[in-house]
Amino acid sequence: MNFEVIVIGSGIGGLTAAALLARYNQRVLVCESHAIAGGAAHSFTRRGFTFDSGPSFYCGLGKQRPSLNPLRQVLDVLGESLEVVSYDPLGHYHFPEGSFPVYCDAQRYREAVAKITPQGAKELAQFEQRLLSVYNCLKDIPTIALRADWRLIPLLLTNYLPTLIKMLPQLGVIQGSVGRIMDEEVRDPWVRRLIDLECFLLSGLKAQGTVAPEVAFMLGERTRAGVEYPIGGSGAIVAALVRGLQNWGGELQLNAHVEQILVAGGQAVGVRLHNGEVIKAPVVISNATLWDTYTKLLR
Ligand SMILES: Cc1cc2nc3c(=O)[nH]c(=O)nc-3n(C[C@H](O)[C@H](O)[C@H](O)COP(=O)(O)OP(=O)(O)OC[C@H]3O[C@@H](n4cnc5c(N)ncnc54)[C@H](O)[C@@H]3O)c2cc1C
Repeated sequence: MNFEVIVIGSGIGGLTAAALLARYNQRVLVCESHAIAGGAAHSFTRRGFTFDSGPSFYCGLGKQRPSLNPLRQVLDVLGESLEVVSYDPLGHYHFPEGSFPVYCDAQRYREAVAKITPQGAKELAQFEQRLLSVYNCLKDIPTIALRADWRLIPLLLTNYLPTLIKMLPQLGVIQGSVGRIMDEEVRDPWVRRLIDLECFLLSGLKAQGTVAPEVAFMLGERTRAGVEYPIGGSGAIVAALVRGLQNWGGELQLNAHVEQILVAGGQAVGVRLHNGEVIKAPVVISNATLWDTYTKLLR
């Protein structure tokens, strides 16, 4: 079979790219090293129990429309759906002072904080307000419409000019860290620790190292759409993407580790698998890390 595109890796990113290309009539092959599709989001079973290997918090995957979750928009395009369960609180944080329920509902969240620190709850409300103003601008530009090259500028100017104008007063915040807003709005040490923790769970860094739009989106979506869990876990999302890929004629090959991206005249022309098999295609998309792609696959 001749392929027009080879995608290296069946993580959520690789499957999304592959399934969309298949949907729009490209002959696509996904080569995945592992025996299970899904990358960081794959599920596995042991003794009859299913485990998620990574992600577990999702917003906007269910039937509620409009959804700002680009994955939901991709599944819509593929004609796939997921059954999800909403839940609140999404979990508990365990502090030395006691357990804290993390409610999606902003009012209940603040009430839970007020039980520990009434002044902190007021400061938190100001902090949230600052971030929600950012969210209210950003949410009008769908993530899926964005691109990573210079064409982003004409695209934004042509399609989203009113939103860009609305965003102008927020530019400082959009480019800044959560820590800056926290320093301006929150003195209470317990709430500062809570914000650091929320940032750490999202980005792996405390408030000073976390970009404001990321937390603005998390807070905004958590409040607007609530948190959901797909029945079947993250594996159900992967299965829906694989179904979408295959229903639109794409192929997935597991246990197919790509050893090298073949290049001729400065252009990708295919891949060589670990078992020596060569598969040709004029376009190769890598879902492997940048580091692996440039230092190992493009040797
Ligand atoms: C513990 C944990 C918790 C998380 N929690 C959340 C959460 O709650 N909510 C959320 O939205 N996100 C969460 N995330 C993030 C989310 O899981 C990832 O952002 C997402 O799954 C990454 O997908 P990806 O396609 O970019 O990459 P990956 O999932 O890394 O996929 C890359 C794929 O490429 C394959 N590959 C690499 N090299 C080759 C090669 N040479 N040949 C063939 N195949 C190759 C790999 O095997 C892999 O399958 C979490 C992540 C982790 C690890």
